[in-house]
Amino acid sequence: MINISMLPDKEGYFGEYGGQILPDELKAEFQNITKKFLELKDDKSFQDELNYLLKHYAGRPSPVYYAKNLSKKYGAEIYFKREDLNHTGAHKINHSLGEGLLAKRMGKTKLIAETGAGQHGVAIATVAALLGLECDIYMGEVDIKKEKPNTDRIKVLGANLISVASGNGTLKDAVDEAFKAYINEYETALYAIGSAVGPHPFPMIIEYFQSIVGKEAREQIVELTGDLPDYVVACVGGGSNAIGIFNGFLQDENIKIYGVEPLGKGNKTGDNAASMTYGTDGIIHGFKCKLLQDEKGNPAEVYSIASGLDYPGVGPKHCYLNSIGRVKYETISDEEAVNAFYELSRLEGIIPALESSHAVAYAIKLAKECKSNEKILVNLSGRGDKDIEFVMNKYPKN
Ligand SMILES: *Cc1c(COP(=O)(O)O)cnc(C)c1O
Repeated sequence: MINISMLPDKEGYFGEYGGQILPDELKAEFQNITKKFLELKDDKSFQDELNYLLKHYAGRPSPVYYAKNLSKKYGAEIYFKREDLNHTGAHKINHSLGEGLLAKRMGKTKLIAETGAGQHGVAIATVAALLGLECDIYMGEVDIKKEKPNTDRIKVLGANLISVASGNGTLKDAVDEAFKAYINEYETALYAIGSAVGPHPFPMIIEYFQSIVGKEAREQIVELTGDLPDYVVACVGGGSNAIGIFNGFLQDENIKIYGVEPLGKGNKTGDNAASMTYGTDGIIHGFKCKLLQDEKGNPAEVYSIASGLDYPGVGPKHCYLNSIGRVKYETISDEEAVNAFYELSRLEGIIPALESSHAVAYAIKLAKECKSNEKILVNLSGRGDKDIEFVMNKYPKN
């Protein structure tokens, strides 16, 4: 069904990045996961089941939409891949369905996951309800206070929400705790990671399940315009939505591809989460990547207005694509993202997630420098319902 443009090597490295840095007791289990995944990706009954759910449950294919008003104002043709229209409101349902089905096929009875803003927690809790799996969602206590609608959704869906008080009580700490719990439960549970990060095979698995986005988008933009885009743009937290759409276009060397990281309040450590831009080679959560870190190699504190982008590391495939110059990684500040949030809402009637607003903001910048007939395809990774209250309180605008 889907092609991945490049698989990692046997140890899970993309160039110098990735790998599988694990406690000994998990090594055999990770080999099982890898083997089962590689088997299932060529298994017709698995593909049929996944495709059925993607279509009839998640609502795929999501459309590609030509944003006429935005295009006219900024002077290029801007198109959106509408992942915001998926069930549960973002691209995360794509890999969550895949992980849930993988768990079932491995005979597991539980999904364990971390969540930051709660988006991945909601998607995994949804899939657990659908497939009759138990579900433990680990979330930092600071995030739990901030993300009330999503924590309520997780509870309504019947998952256990586990509050993490260690560290800063945010996403990195939730991953640490979820992983600790998983070490004791791996015989009956699957860790369902939330982005294209973590030890091999997770970056490969997540990329595979998200590559449907690029595959559809490529066909749809050709159908709509008769041609491929000149630019492809996506926001990058851990990098799952971005690697998904990039996959449809990496092979065409004249298509320029941009990943957009959060500059937050500025370039000082602690004020942003732009791992590719300001990070250095380091290790977090079992893999090597560009990491925002202190002198001791501990992950630095990170910040972004968009909680879903707030991670000190970044997926290994992105680090590789950056190292060979195939994809460029740029930054957008909080303020630019909020402006884009309002701009898309008021010009097109689409309220984007604050994460996705980073990609929209960069597309607007690009459009100002483009020829009017150049095409920019933006992955609109999610909808902004979850962000409305926050934006209205903090950045009201008449
Ligand atoms: C979680 C999330 C992101 C960031 O995650 P990636 O793995 O980098 O895609 C981006 N957009 C939305 C809407 C999200 O929910």
